[in-house]
Amino acid sequence: MSKSLQAIRGMNDILPEQTPLWRYFEGTVARLLDNYGYKQIRMPIVEFTELFKRSIGEVTDIVEKEMYTFEDRNGDSLTLRPEGTAACVRAVLEHGITGGGQVQKLWYIGPMFRHERPQKGRYRQFHQIGLEVFNLDGPDIDAELITMTWRLWGELGIRDAVKLELNSLGTSESRGRYREALVEYLSAHHDELDEDSQRRLKTNPLRVLDTKNADTQAVLVNAPKMADYLDDESRAHFEGLKARLDAVGIPYVLNPKLVRGLDYYSKTVFEWVTDKLGAQGTVCAGGRYDGLVEQMGGKPTTGVGFAMGIERLVLMLETLEQIPEEISRQVDVYLCAFGEEAELAGLALAERVRDQLPNLRLQVNAGAGSFKSQFKKADKSGALYALILGDDEMAQQVVGFKPLRGQGEQQSIAWDALAAHLATCVVQG
Ligand code: ATP
Ligand code: MG
Repeated sequence: MSKSLQAIRGMNDILPEQTPLWRYFEGTVARLLDNYGYKQIRMPIVEFTELFKRSIGEVTDIVEKEMYTFEDRNGDSLTLRPEGTAACVRAVLEHGITGGGQVQKLWYIGPMFRHERPQKGRYRQFHQIGLEVFNLDGPDIDAELITMTWRLWGELGIRDAVKLELNSLGTSESRGRYREALVEYLSAHHDELDEDSQRRLKTNPLRVLDTKNADTQAVLVNAPKMADYLDDESRAHFEGLKARLDAVGIPYVLNPKLVRGLDYYSKTVFEWVTDKLGAQGTVCAGGRYDGLVEQMGGKPTTGVGFAMGIERLVLMLETLEQIPEEISRQVDVYLCAFGEEAELAGLALAERVRDQLPNLRLQVNAGAGSFKSQFKKADKSGALYALILGDDEMAQQVVGFKPLRGQGEQQSIAWDALAAHLATCVVQG
């Protein structure tokens, strides 16, 4: 195929054999979020570039080198969203739905775009389910977010394979004091730092903490710790969160190096990580961002949220073989009809059955074909039962009912009794 007709590197098709697992995952999350009282919001995929620069921060990996930015026909600079929080904050401000302290518990799902090096678990178009809560500032809501994800891992059967890492970045004042101390310490060790960290020391010193460079990591061993700089309020908030996680029985590890890639976090930050996916180990990440809304021009409004990477979680389900059997079956019943008269009767019969059993997955053979070829298609469809309409059945106004998986003889069912019979033998989703 010519190059121009290929998909863009790092932007994947999700093929029909993969979509059942995606839909199972997305459906499970959506149901859980509904049950906890979160409401879905849908934002555009493209926003003004300025929005991301202002919210995410100019000196972050995303804004410095990962955004898909282009000029539209009006000469406006637009960007394909690299994450959801910025657009969500923009939307709640634009529509005034967080004004006057109104609580909003929102979630969204969709594609995000970052120009990163594509590899397993890291793509240029990827998908997130994210969630943001506005105007609740206590540790109780931070705990709810984490509890909800913990329940999700349980429902998906991957709880044993993920670990919760937790840190507090404090309020912006305490973080400011910590930043000063860190800069002073790191400046004294300037020559021992890798080049990237030397640069970050000037632009975004907290990011030095999550360096992968071994020499810099060695320098960090004796660096000042954020925990020693937390103000009373942040400390109480963090203790409140830990107490709640303990109460539910959710294990966690404190990771003082967890700073998250975006500028806007404060107080709680957390990541769910796994060792099952190689280098791309974070499946869900988030934290509190009490200053962001104000920074974006709104009234002071606290916020907390997270986003999970759908590709990575789907990969987890595959790797751990936590794929429920029923999702791979797309068809319950397959109707084969032989001859024009039988086809017409079959179509009408199928519609009558669908009226009575709207959740039944009933596929009617299309494209005619011999007995053998229709039967082959019925079998390949994965259906549990084949329905057969030939000359004999037409004459008696019955349909042949044949189990395709396992035992059971073919029987004849009267047309009028078919829906009732199917209802007894097919568990409908
Ligand atoms: P990472 O450290 O893996 O680059 P991040 O800190 O940049 O992640 P966030 O911006 O917090 O990620 O996004 C939340 C989640 O979205 C991540 O934990 C991950 O599961 C997923 N994610 C982020 N970037 C990608 C990507 N390029 N491809 C696939 N999933 C991604
Ligand atoms: Mg990243």
